[in-house]
Amino acid sequence: MKRVNGHEILTLFEQWSPKRFAENWDPIGLHIGQLNRPVEKVLITLDVNEAVVDEAIEKGANLIIAHHPPIFSPLKHIWTDTPQGRLIEKCIKHDISVYAAHTNLDVAPGGVNDLLASRLGLADIEVMEPTISDPLYKLAVFCPVEQADELRRVLARSGAGAIGDYAGCSFTSTGTGRFTPSAGADPFIGEVGKLEEVTEERIEVVLPGPLRSKVLKAMLAAHPYEEPAYDFFILDQRTEEFGLGRVGKLPEAMELKEFAQFVKKVLDVPAVRIVGDASKSVRKVAVLGGSGSKYIRAAKRKGADVFVTGDMDFHSAQDAELMDLAIVDPGHHVEKVMIEGVARYMEQACLKKGYDVSFIESQIDTEPFRFV
Ligand SMILES: [Zn+2]
Repeated sequence: MKRVNGHEILTLFEQWSPKRFAENWDPIGLHIGQLNRPVEKVLITLDVNEAVVDEAIEKGANLIIAHHPPIFSPLKHIWTDTPQGRLIEKCIKHDISVYAAHTNLDVAPGGVNDLLASRLGLADIEVMEPTISDPLYKLAVFCPVEQADELRRVLARSGAGAIGDYAGCSFTSTGTGRFTPSAGADPFIGEVGKLEEVTEERIEVVLPGPLRSKVLKAMLAAHPYEEPAYDFFILDQRTEEFGLGRVGKLPEAMELKEFAQFVKKVLDVPAVRIVGDASKSVRKVAVLGGSGSKYIRAAKRKGADVFVTGDMDFHSAQDAELMDLAIVDPGHHVEKVMIEGVARYMEQACLKKGYDVSFIESQIDTEPFRFV
């Protein structure tokens, strides 16, 4: 097993939940500490408060991955006789780093919203509100026939040619390449000053924009030629869309009041608020972790019968009622599903890499609301 530092762990995490998925107002990333120190235990939590930091100290975790950013607005000072100042002081004194993955983890496939959709047992899941899609590129590279198989393998390993559920997609055509090596060249085929003709393959692969430099680097490293010939094209197509919230279907329709009881049970909350006729039949469900008041129209546009989200405000609830969109509000804290979700995902990812690190699920209840 390999000893690792925070940077290596979070590089793996960001392959799943990249920073570019975050909304631009969202202060995600490293909040406190540094990532160059060795890490053996990581504490996963929804929120960071002093009790969570104490838990990290007690359990020997020196990296905390949280969903809610602990420093949301820029600080003008760190006064250690205030709760937030004390929290920062405690983290620094105990060499504990804190990293936040917020809207990027909401958007990530398998992240907060998918975890909620899966708890609700939804099928045929789609994104509710697309926020990001990447431009698609095509790489065409010319290579001697004998080396083409190896180059196709390298391109596939670097992530090129992944289309939907298919990996390693490419197209190859054969033709003739011509070149004359000049003085100073050290050609793989041919000799200086002599026109050479080589049977070459033109390999075409598509790739999402963010992979461009990785694929190019891998191709250049694997290509036998000193000066490989290749073209990058930007296509008038984009990758699949990523976004906030999910919409899916229950296995069968149920009445709103029955669905509300089901939500209470599967999301493990003591109470929910509902909007709409309790006997309304619901089957298509929209779900968005956190505060979803702003997204009632997106849920309606997707044809949802009911929208499960937290922090529903009075006027948005009235608007939803008018548009015949039922609401089940289980509170904001149901995002706690990320604790187990992130721990399991990261355990698997680190195991595959042989990283010697364990993930601890925080046991601190950070729900501020109590029901009386
Ligand atoms: Zn939240």
